Amino acid sequence: MLSDEMYRGTDVSYVCICLRRAWLSTHEIYITDGTEFVKMGSYTNDVERNYGYSQVSIGRNKIDYLQLLPDKKCIIHEFKRGRKVIDADLFQISHYMNIASSSGYDIDHGEIHFLGSKKIKKVNFPLENENSLKEKYRMIDKLKQSTIPKMERNYFCSHGCSYVEFCWGSNE
Ligand code: SF4
Repeated sequence: MLSDEMYRGTDVSYVCICLRRAWLSTHEIYITDGTEFVKMGSYTNDVERNYGYSQVSIGRNKIDYLQLLPDKKCIIHEFKRGRKVIDADLFQISHYMNIASSSGYDIDHGEIHFLGSKKIKKVNFPLENENSLKEKYRMIDKLKQSTIPKMERNYFCSHGCSYVEFCWGSNE
């Protein structure tokens, strides 16, 4: 098992969504030609950055939205497209909070912001899902040693997965 900061937040998120997607990502196979959803990711990066957040790199992770409070505690922010909390988002921000804490940042809490609405989900620290997060790390380890999982149709195929054409062809 790697040290926690060597797992990437995107991979932690993907094992919650689709093992095939996580496999492709952990094997560093990416779609780079700019589907609607890839472009949306760039958009959120360009527009939501620079609101007074710091960007920090920890291991293989770049945390874009770390807010340092006057009392030296930190809030980790994540911006998401959807309107409701899904496990993938929860575990991704939990991973960032975990590795930031291990690197010496004094974490107060995390916040998931939903683009298009004013909803914010607060994530407590210490983490309530720490054991499950470690299980996600183990799942990533297993995927690295496995062959590519078969496609399984799921909600995310047509709601944000950049591999949709790779899996299902260009008519999706
Ligand atoms: S298109 Fe669907 S099956 Fe293929 S990687 Fe994405 S979520 Fe998984």
